[in-house]
This record gives sequence, structure tokens and C-alpha cells, in this order.
Amino acid sequence: MLMKSRTTFLLLLNLPAACVMANTGSAFYGDPPDETHAWSIHDRNRPQPPLVTPGTFSSQEHPGKPPSDAVVLFDGTEATLSNWVADKNPAEPTKWIVKDGALQCVPGAGYIKTKAEWGDCQLHVEWSAPAKVAGNSQGRGNSGVFLMGLTEVQVLDNFNNPTYPDGFAGSVYGVSPPMANPLVAPGQWQVYDIIFRRPVFKDGKELEPGRLTVLINGVIAQDATPLEGGGGHMGRSKSRPFPEKGPLKLQDHGNPVRYRNVWYRPLPPRAVEGGTDGQLSPEAAATKKKEIAAGLREKAEKAASKDKLLGLMESLCYDQDAAAAEQVNKLSSDWLAAAKASKGEGMKGEIMQLRGAFNYMNNHKFLPADHPAKGGIAAIITERGWDEKKE
Ligand code: MG
Repeated sequence: MLMKSRTTFLLLLNLPAACVMANTGSAFYGDPPDETHAWSIHDRNRPQPPLVTPGTFSSQEHPGKPPSDAVVLFDGTEATLSNWVADKNPAEPTKWIVKDGALQCVPGAGYIKTKAEWGDCQLHVEWSAPAKVAGNSQGRGNSGVFLMGLTEVQVLDNFNNPTYPDGFAGSVYGVSPPMANPLVAPGQWQVYDIIFRRPVFKDGKELEPGRLTVLINGVIAQDATPLEGGGGHMGRSKSRPFPEKGPLKLQDHGNPVRYRNVWYRPLPPRAVEGGTDGQLSPEAAATKKKEIAAGLREKAEKAASKDKLLGLMESLCYDQDAAAAEQVNKLSSDWLAAAKASKGEGMKGEIMQLRGAFNYMNNHKFLPADHPAKGGIAAIITERGWDEKKE
């Protein structure tokens, strides 16, 4: 099949022309930032996601490897035992023991907690209930993972062991039963992957209830379950603020439950906490947009004529700064004079590029529809017969 023109080629691919432009990293492309979004759609000024080398999965025989940016809390060694202290007497090392690469609860020794404190996180914990089954219901292989020391994701041997559902393994204890019971037999390793978001309050008002997502052995048990205050034993907890950070606690419930491969990754703040991804308050969006615009203006000042013009135009999409708008008028007028004086196709690429940019600015009302550059560019293109629509 013959490719008659670029347009025909794009039609064959069933792609609009704009999709191809995306690969060029064009600034004047997706819907611009607005009242509650600091970023345009497909914004190339948005930071790249940080690189993380993934870890490896665990087998029953061997714990996996944490991802490269994880904070390791226990890796099977005595050395990592020093990340933990006794909850009641933090000056004392924990009486829990390291045995065969596992951190084992010593009944009566009390809860343990990390020296480190943090808030929102991804947490990975592997645990194993005693192979020799003793007790039933809440008395069998009971321990617990307490996020910020305040809300318990239950650890319990529920393999052929019914109990009250909001106290099951993988429950937010006293708040929400797990959606499934995918536990393997006691003595084997159970894997918890937890995403924790703390409650967010402002001026005494709850902005976010706090949420827990839990996967047990890769099976979803909690899906952003609201914390309702964090839960507890017998009492119904009520929505409340949490501190900024707290330790991770592991529970001594009288059973020698073992842990291995414990690590976390702190999570960036949500929009509700001052993060800039997602929908923001108009005030937060305006602040971030001004910051992005200032960065673009600074970069533009160091660029050569055309790129300086484009950089300043781009900055106006984030912040209608009067001085930058004035500079755009001046620079575009100079540039247009040079374009008009150019011969043949010498400046064609540049002229077509600027047409796209000015059209974008006009379409999104960042520059007036009767901006002289727009009409000037159109006249050059018509005069030189470059209008693709006439092909
Ligand atoms: Mg417990």
C-alpha cells in the first residue's frame, strides 16, 4: 500500500496527528493546568517517577529481597534486631529472639516497636504461626501488626480456625473483616502487603478518614478500608486525628508467632496533605502553578530567541504573569519580523511549530484570539502555500 501523505499514513494507523506530536515532547499539547490541577494533561514538566529496582518474591523456603528503596526493619539477622525495642520500656532491647532467621515473639515479653517512626507507607511483613496447633479462635497464633502503633492489622492462625470476622487474620481489628481467608497452614509463611494512609484532619475537621489496604498471600483482604478511628478491642473507635508519625508495633498475644522480611517504603504526601499530584485546592494549585511558571521563566531567560519565546509562552499556561506576557509580545513581534523576512523554506519548521504553539495559547485563552503573531504566522503560511489542509 502506498503512503500518499503524512495524513494518509496517520489515518492508516488510526491515530490523530496530535498523538505523533506527543513523541516530540511538545509543550503545547494536552489540556492545560486549571483551577484545581497544577499540571497539564501529559505535562512534561511533571517530575519523572523515581527509579526503584524491584525486589524478589518469597518462597516458603526463602524470604524474598526488598525493593531498592525499602527501609529494612528485619532481614533475619541479629543486627536488625537492634531496630526494635520493648514497647513498655523503650530504653531496653526487646526480649523477642532471632531464631533460624526469624524474629520470634517470646510470650510475656510484651509488644515490640521500631525505633524509627513514620506515617503513610507500604509495609511488607511475613509471619508464621506455630506449626504445633494449640488453642482456638483468638487464642491460636495471635499477634498483630500495629501501624503507627495505633491500628492493628490482625495476625492470627485462621487456618481451619473460625473466630469473630472483624478479628480475623487481615482484619482491621474491630473495624472490618478481611474480604477473604487465603491463609496457608500454620508453620508456613504468610505474606502481608499493606498500604497505610493515616487520617488527615485540618482545624478539627476530617479531610480523610485514613485507609488500609491489605493483601494476604497476594489476595486482596482490605481495599482502602476507612479506619474509623483505627479500631480496637470491644469498643467502637471514632474518627480521630493521628500524629504525623509513629512506630510499627508487633503484638505479644501470648503465642510464639515468628516474623521475617519486614520492610517499608514511606509514601509521598497525598494532595490532601500538601502533595501536588491529583486534584488540589484552588490555593494549593495556584501556588504550585506559580512555582512551575517561575522555573520555566528562569529556564527561558537562558535560552536563545525562539526557545526563549516558547518557554515564556509555556509559563503563561501556569501563571499569567504580566511581565512575561509583555516579553512574549515583544519577542513574538521580533520573531515574526524575522520570519517574514526569511526566504523560501528556511524557517518553515520553526514557523509551523510557532503556529501550533500560538493556536494552543489562543484555544485555551492564554493569549487573545487577535494576537498579532497568530495572524502574522497564518499569512506567511498561506502566502507560501504550506497549509496542509490544501494539500
Ligand atoms: Mg492480635
